Order: sequence, then C-alpha cells, then structure tokens
Amino acid sequence: MSSPREQRWASLQILGVRVDCVDFHQTLDAVSAWIAQSRARDEKSEDAAPRLRQVCTVNPEFIMTARRQPAFAKVLAAADLCTPDGVGVLWAARLAGVPLTERVTGSDGIHRLCQRAAQQGWRVYFLGAAPGVAERAAAELARLYPGLPVAGAYAGSPAQADWPQIRRRLAAARADLLFVAYGHPRQDIWIHQRRDELPVAVALGVGGAFDFVAGVTPRAPRWLRGLGLEWLYRLVRQPWRSRRMAALPLFALMVLVEWVRLRPTKQ
Ligand code: UDP
Repeated sequence: MSSPREQRWASLQILGVRVDCVDFHQTLDAVSAWIAQSRARDEKSEDAAPRLRQVCTVNPEFIMTARRQPAFAKVLAAADLCTPDGVGVLWAARLAGVPLTERVTGSDGIHRLCQRAAQQGWRVYFLGAAPGVAERAAAELARLYPGLPVAGAYAGSPAQADWPQIRRRLAAARADLLFVAYGHPRQDIWIHQRRDELPVAVALGVGGAFDFVAGVTPRAPRWLRGLGLEWLYRLVRQPWRSRRMAALPLFALMVLVEWVRLRPTKQ
C-alpha cells in the first residue's frame, strides 16, 4: 500500500525541523488518499485499524518551539506531513535553494479541505477554540461549502480530564477528518499522543483558524498576506503575541548563520 509519506516528497530541514516540499494541491491529494485508504479498510472490516495520519503546518514559531521542546520536535518528526507555513519558512527554503510555491497554512487549509470535503463527502469534525466557536466555524464553512458533512463540533480542551468526553463524541461522530484548534504545540502533541485512539483518518492542528472563520479574530487582508506581512498584522491586532513572536528575528538570524556556514566557499 502506498501512502503519500512513502511517495517521499522532497523535504528539507530548517534548523533541524523537517518541512515537506508540498503545495495545497499535493496536500489535498495526500489527505484524499489517506481518507480513501481508511474507508476502503472500513468497508473490508479489516481488523487492524489504519493508522491515523497527522498533518502539521510548520511555521517559524513551530520551528523555534521545537528547538526548545524536544517532545514537540519528536511530534513533528513523526508527522505524516509537515507543510510549509509562514513566509519565514518560504524564505528559509529559498535560501537553501529549494523554492516553494506557496504557504500551506491551517487558516487557508481549513477552507480548501472543507471545499474538498463537500465535494467528496468527507465527514469533518471541529474540535477546540473557546466554547461555541467551533460550532460557529462549522456553520460558516457549511454555508460557504454547501453539502459539507459536519460530523460535529465541540470546544473541549486538551486537558486529560476532557479526553473521555471527547473520545465519546468522536466515536459517535464517525468523522474522516479532524481539525484541532488548541494552538501549537499543544494541539499537535495532543493528536500525536492519541494517534492510536482517535477514530479518524486524518487529523490536522489548525491553531486560531476557527477564530478566523467564526469572525472572532479578523484575518489580515488578502493584499497584506500577498506581501508576506500577515505576521505584522497579527502583531498589531494581537499585541499579546509579541513575546511569542520575539522568536522570529532569532529564527531569521539562525537561518542566516546556518546559510553562511553551509554555503560552498570558493577556493
Ligand atoms: N485554545 C483552546 N484551548 C486551549 C488553548 C487554546 O481551545 O487550552 C484555542 C484558542 O481559543 C484559539 C487557539 O486555540 O482558538 C489558538 O490559536 P493561536 O492562533 O494562538 O494558535 P497558534 O498560532 O499557537 O497555533
């Protein structure tokens, strides 16, 4: 059986973290293949449940967090797909001589995946964010993508005490695709730790995407995103992020140092 991970996309290491060289088209195809595999197994009632596939959207904050938290670095290393998220990741890839065509973010990915889900009939579950936000995000996506099979929506929390309740809800929902909005690194670690128990084919951490879709947090205008300045917009609108985002200049510096170190020197 082939899986997209076995297809071995080209990938690169940015400060020790793997980033797969995929665009949205390849990401959607991978998710599609995984869901089809999972459904085929269900139809055959094969005993061994297919392994959950985990997608992580790797931006510079992820990379800097992974450098501080080995447990998170292990989760990213084990993920089935680490998409390039963030203009800093595209810039670092270009420096490394690997031009990537686009950012594959959770905030855009949730739209692309829900659009495909509506076409293909994938059942989608929305887990996370503040109470009521997941339901609002699901309703908005169902409005945008008519026919979207919403398997359920629930805030829950990544706390262990909430797990039995979440497990019960997911077992009843029979979802193919699970979006988890608990912010990084928690959401990604949460998925990884429960990968043998989550009854879905594919799980993806989406950070603040439900907040964007539900209109709780405004997203940067498209033209600003096009200029690669979404991070600046978020910083101005959500100044409490400044401590987290302080890691970004350090990321840029470390990438540059690495680039100088690895650059072939002329004799
Ligand atoms: N969140 C949550 N439970 C928690 C911590 C966070 O539901 O215990 C949600 C929060 O409401 C928000 C999202 O997780 O919707 C975090 O969004 P953020 O943009 O900070 O994600 P990141 O950029 O860290 O991935």
